[in-house]
Amino acid sequence: MEAFIKQKACELGFTACGIAKAGPVEEAERQRYLKWIEEQRHGEMGYLERNIEKRFDPTLLVPGCKSLIVCALNYFPPQTIKESHLRIAYYAYGKDYHKVLKDKLYQLAQAIEERKKESSTSSSPQPSAMKPRALVDSAPILERYWAQKAGLGWIGRNRQLIIPGAGSFFFLGILAVGDELKADNPCPNRCGTCHACLDACPTGALKEVFDARKCISYLTIEQKTPISSGFLPLIKPRIYGCDSCQTSCPWNRFAQATDEKAFFPSDKLLQMTDAEWEALSEEQYAALFAESAVERAGYNKLKDNIQATKAEK
Ligand code: SF4
Ligand code: SF4
Repeated sequence: MEAFIKQKACELGFTACGIAKAGPVEEAERQRYLKWIEEQRHGEMGYLERNIEKRFDPTLLVPGCKSLIVCALNYFPPQTIKESHLRIAYYAYGKDYHKVLKDKLYQLAQAIEERKKESSTSSSPQPSAMKPRALVDSAPILERYWAQKAGLGWIGRNRQLIIPGAGSFFFLGILAVGDELKADNPCPNRCGTCHACLDACPTGALKEVFDARKCISYLTIEQKTPISSGFLPLIKPRIYGCDSCQTSCPWNRFAQATDEKAFFPSDKLLQMTDAEWEALSEEQYAALFAESAVERAGYNKLKDNIQATKAEK
C-alpha cells in the first residue's frame, strides 16, 4: 500500500510523498514552539496561539487518524518577474494553491480507498471508519515538522522545508488517514556550515531564532498595522512576500519549473512596470489577482506595500 500511495502521488504531480505516524510532536518541538510564541515572535498572527494542543497532536485535530501522508507540490515558476521590477513572491504568481492541493489530496484519498476495496478479502482487517482529511495550510498542524518526519526533506536555517535534489519551492499538503501505514525515516538536516540564507535576509529575521516580526513576508502580507519606519527602506523591490532566503539557498539550484499550469504567472503580471504598480486601480487589482493568494492581503495592503518601496535608504 505504501508503494502504491507514493506511485499515485507521483502520478498526481507531487514531487515528493512520505508517510509519518500520527501522534504528539516531540517535546523539543513543543518547547521550541511555545517559547517562540511566548517571545511574541509570531507578531499579529494570533491564530498561531490558538488550538495549541491540536497543533501539537494531529490525532486531536483529526480524531481516529493513524498516519499522515505528506506531499509536496512544486510551484517554481517557469518565468519570473524581472529583477529590476517590483515583484511578488513566486508562490503567489498563479492561482491560490489551497484548492489545487486539496483536490489532488482527495484524489489520492479516493485512489487509496479503491485500492483497499480491490485488495480486501474476508480475512482483511476491518476498514478504517475515518474519512481521510486533507490539511492544507488552513488547519493547525506543523506541516514542515511532519514533512521532515515523513522523510521528504529537512527544515533549513531559512525555516523552509528543503527537499534534497529539488529545493524548497514547494507547497505542502497532508492527508490524514485512519490506516496504520509503515512510516518513512526522517530526513537528516544537510545545511552543514552554510549560512547563505542568513546573509541574504535583508532584515536579519533569521538571526538565531526566526522572528516573523522582522520578516518581509510577514510585514507585506500578514501585518495589519503599518510597517514601522525602520523596515521601510528594506522592502524594495518586494511588494508581496519575499523569496530572498530561498533564492540564495544552494539547494535551489536544483529547482525545476513546475508543470502545474495553475501556478504559472500571467503575461500581464510578468510585464507590470513600476509605474503600472503605482497606478494600480482596485479593478485592475481584481483582474490581475482573480483566484490568487494575493487576495489574502487585499488591495489597500498591496498599495501600502507599493508605497513602502519608495522609502529612502
Ligand atoms: S522571507 Fe525574506 S525577510 Fe523573511 S526571512 Fe526570508 S529573506 Fe528574510
Ligand atoms: S541557504 Fe544554506 S543554511 Fe540556509 S537553508 Fe539553504 S542550505 Fe541551509
